[in-house]
Amino acid sequence: MDYITVEEALKKGAGKVNLRGWVYRIRMSNKFVFIVMRDHTDIIQCVVKAEDKKLFEEASKLTMESSLKVSGELKKDERAPTGYELGVSELEVVQIAEPFPITKDFSPEFLLDNRHLWIRSRKINAVLKIRHTVTGAIHGFFRSRGYYEFDAPIFQPNMSEGGSTLFEVKYFKDKVYLSQSWQLYAEAGIFSLGKIYNMSPTFRSEKSKTSRHLAEFWMAEMEAAWMKLDEVTEVAKDEIRFILKKVLENNRKELEILERDVSLIEKYAKEKYPTIKYAEALGLLNKTYKMDVPFGKDLRTIEEAKIAEHFKLPVVVTHYPTEIMGFYKPPNRENPKEALCFDMLAPEGYCEIIGGSERNLDIKDMENRLRKEGEDPKTYDWYLDLRRYGSAPHSGYGLGVERVVAWICGLDNIKDAIPFPRTMLRKTP
Ligand code: ATP
Ligand code: MG
Repeated sequence: MDYITVEEALKKGAGKVNLRGWVYRIRMSNKFVFIVMRDHTDIIQCVVKAEDKKLFEEASKLTMESSLKVSGELKKDERAPTGYELGVSELEVVQIAEPFPITKDFSPEFLLDNRHLWIRSRKINAVLKIRHTVTGAIHGFFRSRGYYEFDAPIFQPNMSEGGSTLFEVKYFKDKVYLSQSWQLYAEAGIFSLGKIYNMSPTFRSEKSKTSRHLAEFWMAEMEAAWMKLDEVTEVAKDEIRFILKKVLENNRKELEILERDVSLIEKYAKEKYPTIKYAEALGLLNKTYKMDVPFGKDLRTIEEAKIAEHFKLPVVVTHYPTEIMGFYKPPNRENPKEALCFDMLAPEGYCEIIGGSERNLDIKDMENRLRKEGEDPKTYDWYLDLRRYGSAPHSGYGLGVERVVAWICGLDNIKDAIPFPRTMLRKTP
């Protein structure tokens, strides 16, 4: 028997079809059983009439999430949830589901406890399809621009983003850390491949309970030889617009299911994004919004949110204070208090989605800053070698896949942007 998907059936609109899927909703009376059936593509109403006794008996046994196969004639019906109804002529019950734990009035924590079942929901299904587009677009973007995919180890001997969020792992008789970033290895890779990118799991033991931090997330990173700050920020903007265009091409239906304002996504996909310096951002916050942020402080969520809301677009903020930046972010020669780095802040309260910089080429400066962070520069000797053998300017950035997905989907919490979230308080299922 040839089965088609629910989406294909809805497109076909008439004739006999065979479908298989799960009971999404079910309603019974003494005359009819209405089964709203779902598969990975959509939902469709199927009706079983009482006149067909055997069929009616079978259908009456069905429960929410039971698996089944049905055959029947399609017809248009304005009252059905997706506009068509299948008049069932054959029905095979594959499995009668036990009472499904997820009904109405569930708390977010309950849904997370039942994540293995909740990923079937229309909401998470839509998010995961958009995520699929986003990750595909990232590969497409870099490959179309001549970047090579380059992989780094997940077990790493060094920190790259600060000791406080390192996950330590027993490694035979020794210890290593789970990757906080691909970057340090990428900086070796560019001497071989020039322009490279990667997308891989990234681990940070974030102790803060925010709606924007996961302990395990996917970071899409790039690194390119000879590239300077003004160029790398433009690559980041192009990448975001490229991703948004792909989502608009492929996922209008999912955006609608998520009740996302598509006109905003269209605007972000089309318009140019502003770049401002950190010092200008402070001016804006302190003068226009009467906030009181001194130079030298990292921007907090409320401040980032204000800046992006002011422009109602993603904004690139450059030249953060050197002293609060990682050792690999170089001071600006003309003004060493500011670093050659940037963040991209997304509007609508989503804040930082990308962080990047030119890379420090000054061995002495890096050694000093590593010592200040309590690190032994000796462990970084392999990395410092990259400055000893044909050092060249280069830049790169990291994009948080879940941050971008959460923003595009309009999610309240980053946890819904990944199939099985990991945070300080959540390691199951
Ligand atoms: P934040 O200040 O928000 O913690 P960060 O400055 O630590 O971010 P980077 O080290 O620049 O972040 O990492 C690059 C990108 O990775 C960030 O812009 C963000 O999109 C993403 N990212 C960083 N930490 C997390 C996390 N814990 N969970 C999800 N995404 C993250
Ligand atoms: Mg962080």
